[in-house]
Amino acid sequence: MLDFNNKTLNELKRIDDNNRLAFNLTRDKLLETDEKFNSLYCEKNRNISLFLKTGDEKYNEKIQSIIKDIEDYCAFKHYENTTSSYVPKCNKCNDLGIKEADGKYCECFYKMRKQLILDTFPMLNVTPLSKVDTSIYEKSDEANNKKIIKVLNLLLTTDKYSVITIFGKPGIGKSYLAYASGNEYLNYGTVSVVPAIDTTSLFKFDFKTNRISGEDDLYEPDLLIIDDLGSEHYFDNINDTGLLQLLEIRQNKKTIITTNLNAKQLEARYHQRVMSRLTSKSNILINMPGEKDLRRK
Ligand SMILES: [Zn+2]
Repeated sequence: MLDFNNKTLNELKRIDDNNRLAFNLTRDKLLETDEKFNSLYCEKNRNISLFLKTGDEKYNEKIQSIIKDIEDYCAFKHYENTTSSYVPKCNKCNDLGIKEADGKYCECFYKMRKQLILDTFPMLNVTPLSKVDTSIYEKSDEANNKKIIKVLNLLLTTDKYSVITIFGKPGIGKSYLAYASGNEYLNYGTVSVVPAIDTTSLFKFDFKTNRISGEDDLYEPDLLIIDDLGSEHYFDNINDTGLLQLLEIRQNKKTIITTNLNAKQLEARYHQRVMSRLTSKSNILINMPGEKDLRRK
């Protein structure tokens, strides 16, 4: 799953570049001019390659102690630029985000990407889907909601589904399950959350070409959550067309839609083509039962 949200990837590159650039400038200068710094630095690198070769924890301990020595030494010498003591946070890739050995993205890259997405979409900071406690639901709804979780899980882990639309009354936990799915999926790919009410501003109608274009946020992520479909302003048919185009472009990606509108209301509000798209092939419309407003607990 190396298909990234471009914005996220660029953001990560920027962070890396800033770190590396500042670090490289001061490091290269000190390596040339300061013998002691040079020898500490070479000693660190020697231990890093030994650690990578053997995996022996004793080398890692040595690395940490040399890092401390370098920091102490830089402080002692009053090296103004604090980045002179910058040492890569990740021993595996030297903060490049990519492992030199095999050219693959490093674990630290995935970790950083996950954190960046959580910072951007704080609503994803919930229990992952696999750990959702279904006992919060009314007994009569529990079995059905377990089924919904199963279907969501299939969406995340297989190609069986592409779009899952969950409908039901407000406050019964539809968004919660969507966010839980998002949290779970963060370990595998990129996730973006778009409240439907924002889609009117995300889709732009180009009068010259008579076409609608959307933001990368909608098209790029591996998993897109469209929250509360039907709450958006409805005018000029933009949403019908925008929605259809979005589903078309994302047909090989994963999308979860939540809505308070039932099948009949969806049919009345959107074009027939939207409805047939939401229920066709690998797409599924599921009813989440329940009356209880879980938010009022
Ligand atoms: Zn790394």
